[in-house]
Amino acid sequence: MQFQWYPGHMTKAKRAMQEDIKLIDVIIELVDSRVPYSSKNPDIDQLANGKSRILLMNKYDLADPVRTDQWVQYYEQKGYFVAKVNSKNGKGVKAVHNVIQAACKEKIERDRRRGILNRPIRAMIVGIPNVGKSTFINSFAGKACTKTGNKPGVTKGKQWIRLNKMEELLDTPGILWPKFEDQEVGLRLAYIGSIKDELYNIYELSVLLLQYLRENYPNAVSNFYGIAEEKASEETLKQIAEKRGCLKAGGEFDLDKAAKCLIDDFRAGKLGAISLEMPQ
Ligand code: GDP
Repeated sequence: MQFQWYPGHMTKAKRAMQEDIKLIDVIIELVDSRVPYSSKNPDIDQLANGKSRILLMNKYDLADPVRTDQWVQYYEQKGYFVAKVNSKNGKGVKAVHNVIQAACKEKIERDRRRGILNRPIRAMIVGIPNVGKSTFINSFAGKACTKTGNKPGVTKGKQWIRLNKMEELLDTPGILWPKFEDQEVGLRLAYIGSIKDELYNIYELSVLLLQYLRENYPNAVSNFYGIAEEKASEETLKQIAEKRGCLKAGGEFDLDKAAKCLIDDFRAGKLGAISLEMPQ
């Protein structure tokens, strides 16, 4: 499966982000805990340029807890301040204030030595589409101040949010993936819904996802749909179609519809807490 990319759009977003980064002390980067590598924007590493870095493993409720902890360690070893958050129900969100203070400890002490007291820490949230930036900001800021939605690219515009006396947050649009050379990355982002639906074939996507699940989380699919474990993805899709009544006008199985069903159920976490990547 081939994914396409839009460099023009990307360049503009990158430039805007470069300007925003000049204004802030700490970058809070959100990743999707199911794909902590593929949902991490590699460009940010260059752009961050000396700023403190926080990495939030969002949607940890949807990911395999054992693997998530491995990823936390992995990123901590790389020098990030890391925390697990569930922006949807608020778990771990409050603790991010402490993480900000820890990440900016040196800056606060430097300010203090210079006689600057209580200058707010300025932070910004970054992440690729659909990782939960808007949901996190709403939860973190304590009120519905940004638009949220279940489609990539919903976060638009820019605004400062005063969190408390000590912290200010800049909301920026999510930046998209700059390089699509690695098709595996594209594939995983499609699984979690961070790529527009029009850019891939849902049937092919579901066949590949079933293959991955069979190898890594056997029984996740059969348990959820109440079907027998099959060796071939096509057979499994037929069974899902049968269970879910996905039929075409002539009565034959509608496998595209079954595929969509599977992908939606996976994205919603109904198949269980599943990770798509392991730290190398
Ligand atoms: P953005 O594009 O990065 O701003 O992402 P949104 O904030 O619009 O979130 C995308 C989708 O992910 C929405 O349907 C949210 O409800 C959902 N979401 C966000 N955070 C979490 C989380 O921690 N857990 C779960 N299960 N869903 C989340």
